[in-house]
Amino acid sequence: MGLNMKFNCLPPSIVFQEVPNEISLCFSITGCKVACTGCHSTELWHANHGNHLSNTSFRNWLTKYQNLISCVLFFGGEWQAKALIEKLRIAKSWGLKTCLYSGEKHIDISICEHLNFLKTGPWQSTLGGLDSIDSNQVFRNVQTGEKLNHLFIKNNHHHLSKGVNHVAA
Ligand code: SF4
Repeated sequence: MGLNMKFNCLPPSIVFQEVPNEISLCFSITGCKVACTGCHSTELWHANHGNHLSNTSFRNWLTKYQNLISCVLFFGGEWQAKALIEKLRIAKSWGLKTCLYSGEKHIDISICEHLNFLKTGPWQSTLGGLDSIDSNQVFRNVQTGEKLNHLFIKNNHHHLSKGVNHVAA
């Protein structure tokens, strides 16, 4: 497998706040090229980090967690659109919602059509993450186009878990 075919991830974890009203199984895909200044997840920059997430291993994770989750969340992975779309299609076929957190401003329609939720925009420390009213980052319901940042700001006194502000990126 060539380097540019890597679709590696860190071991997934269940997260509660990154997608409002959903319990998500979160996969951090390595090989991020956005290179945000102040990124606190620089281990995600290296495509060799983590383990290959094949469709089979993805299904195995879903089998393990399916009774606990309502959504699958990807931190990155848009740089491998084909591999990501395959996972999104699988998640949908299991009746799960899907979300992508990207540091890019725009995500290709071929990916978006398999998403329920999408966070876009790089991490900018002076503006803050989704829990900041000044944030450059946008969280949307992809189906309706509705911007949902207010759902994060409302709970501003509860700091979002590390993943959102940094990975997220
Ligand atoms: S903050 Fe997120 S999008 Fe930005 S470089 Fe780090 S991992 Fe990539």
